[in-house]
Amino acid sequence: GKPRVVVVGGGAGGATAARYIAKDSQGAIDVTLVEPTRAYFTCFFSNLYLGGFRELDSLAHTYGRLAQGGVNVVHDWAVAIDREARTVSLAGGGVLAYDRLILAPGIDFVDGAVPGWDISAQHAMPHAYKAGSQTELLKAQIMAMPEGGVFAMVAPPNPFRCPPGPYERVSMVAHLLKASNPSAKILIVDPKEKFSKQALFEEGWQAHYGGMIDRIGPDFGGADVRVDPAAMTVAIDGVVEKVDVCNVIPAQKAGRICDMAGITENGWAPVDGHGMQSRMDENIHVLGDSAQQGDMPKSGFSANSQAKVAAMTVRGVLSGSKVFPAKFSNTCWSLIDTEDGVKVGATYEATDEKIAKVDGFISQTGEDTALRRATYEESLGWYAGITKDIFG
Ligand code: FAD
Repeated sequence: GKPRVVVVGGGAGGATAARYIAKDSQGAIDVTLVEPTRAYFTCFFSNLYLGGFRELDSLAHTYGRLAQGGVNVVHDWAVAIDREARTVSLAGGGVLAYDRLILAPGIDFVDGAVPGWDISAQHAMPHAYKAGSQTELLKAQIMAMPEGGVFAMVAPPNPFRCPPGPYERVSMVAHLLKASNPSAKILIVDPKEKFSKQALFEEGWQAHYGGMIDRIGPDFGGADVRVDPAAMTVAIDGVVEKVDVCNVIPAQKAGRICDMAGITENGWAPVDGHGMQSRMDENIHVLGDSAQQGDMPKSGFSANSQAKVAAMTVRGVLSGSKVFPAKFSNTCWSLIDTEDGVKVGATYEATDEKIAKVDGFISQTGEDTALRRATYEESLGWYAGITKDIFG
């Protein structure tokens, strides 16, 4: 019969890979995508929903066009992988055989990363680092804050999904509170010395939200945090503070199915950037946030870029089509305030050792409003384009 590809995870990486293999092989390869949710909510632009710049519905994407494009879409969870037999078992009882397996399950949280917090506390203290109901809950909690209340964020250690994400979120929460609750305060508890686009964010916070945002870095106890979801308190270096909203973004690791497949090391799945192949199993490719690949940040843009390289490689192996040298790119836009957009990005190539950065660019402090507006508008075009590229 036809060669079979199974893709686990229908997010930025997995849906792209499934769509491209089906489209470009024109039916020569059998492609099955396993994804539990019927509607995928993008994390990208979910901060803009918090800020009031997007509707939640505008972040939702379904799988009908992938199915029309020849992908066999199965709404289920992958629960086990047998690398000897080359099969994937599903929660619903099905078993899928593969010649090549693509794993793109995103992230899971490291147990015990923030003392006092576990996944059962996500209602009291949402992470909103997987989009949808968590994002909606976080926004409702912000809107319900008492006048002059405190929004706290526990920021994650490196490496994590979307390096500028927590800081764009703080900007959007500040934008929302400035209008609805201007005496409210934002407290960031951060284990990291430095963070992505720091000078740009700090300049913007000063200009737009002066006096509202306070960040406690590791020198002041930012790495020593404990939360109590029942009491709604955050203890920083032993000093207990009562807060009104607490957004806990824990330390992260590869989606758990990668662990179950036995292809992780220190929480992530090491890959060879030439074709996004696992370093532990040549029949498995790992894309996006789960992959430990080198220099690329964990982003939707990166996952989409890596998926195209993996799709080309898998088609080369299974149907003999031509394989070109791997090239990757990424840009991460962030919105600081209305039409005040900034970006950071780079191009990359595969070396035997890793995916290596070739050339990069970043917005500058002090840019004029016209340039910042153009950067924001560019991000709108990017969202429309990439979601079409992922979901058809
Ligand atoms: P995901 O997109 O998370 O997809 C993983 C999928 O796998 C999920 O749909 C999940 O249901 C499924 N899955 C998991 N386990 C299983 C299983 N066992 N069986 C079947 N399916 C499974 N990126 C950008 O490029 N630009 C941005 O502006 C940006 N902003 C962000 C803002 C925030 C607040 C956050 C949190 C992230 C942001 N990102 C952004 C990052 C981006 O969302 C992720 O990097 C990207 O989604 C990673 O793609 P992925 O395919 O690896 O994982």
